[in-house]
Amino acid sequence: ARFALGLTGGIGSGKTTIANILGELGAALIDTDVIAHQLTVPGGLAIPAILAQFGYELLTADGAMDRSAMRELVFSDPAQKHKLENILHPLIRQETEQAVSTARGSYLIFVVPLLVESGSWKSRVDRVLVVDCDEETQIQRVMSRNRLNREQVQAIMHNQASRQQRLAAADDVITNQGPLENIRAQVVQLHHQYLAYAEMKK
Ligand code: ATP
Repeated sequence: ARFALGLTGGIGSGKTTIANILGELGAALIDTDVIAHQLTVPGGLAIPAILAQFGYELLTADGAMDRSAMRELVFSDPAQKHKLENILHPLIRQETEQAVSTARGSYLIFVVPLLVESGSWKSRVDRVLVVDCDEETQIQRVMSRNRLNREQVQAIMHNQASRQQRLAAADDVITNQGPLENIRAQVVQLHHQYLAYAEMKK
């Protein structure tokens, strides 16, 4: 199997930003957030199971998953959250492997926000890259991007692994703080390391 990197990091850490640089350098990007979204649009593969488990109340008029209704439901109810995850996770894995079969690139990158929280993702990847920044930077970025207040961002962060837990699971770390010109050099260096691993796995 091809060399596969798992790229993760907390909300607003810069996963997409770093993944895009690696993609420009020639890696094949597979973003599990994009896949999850595609599963829940009208006609998406997860819609029949969502309808069966949650009913029409959790769908919009055009047949997509009602994101805000679902967010509200699972936020306060772990059992409902599990139900949704039991629908989505196997489909995300299935669609990821589908994407792998057609991906062109020197190696694979799976962008997985909750990789550290998931044993099955950890065992699927050869190496874990954590995009790290301090928590205040995360809060500031997400507040300005998503128009949330500090408490709302902190509530999301409390539902994710802590910075320490992520760093403990990392094989490599990119410190995504400060000007991107500086960060790019770290990314290019790691890319060359990954190309070497990819070569060894051939
Ligand atoms: P999420 O988990 O919320 O999807 P993410 O980890 O993918 O986020 P990005 O979307 O890459 O993070 O970055 C979050 C925001 O911070 C974006 O608006 C991005 O442009 C900005 N950003 C990322 N890295 C930097 C940086 N080094 N300097 C300034 N802004 C940055």
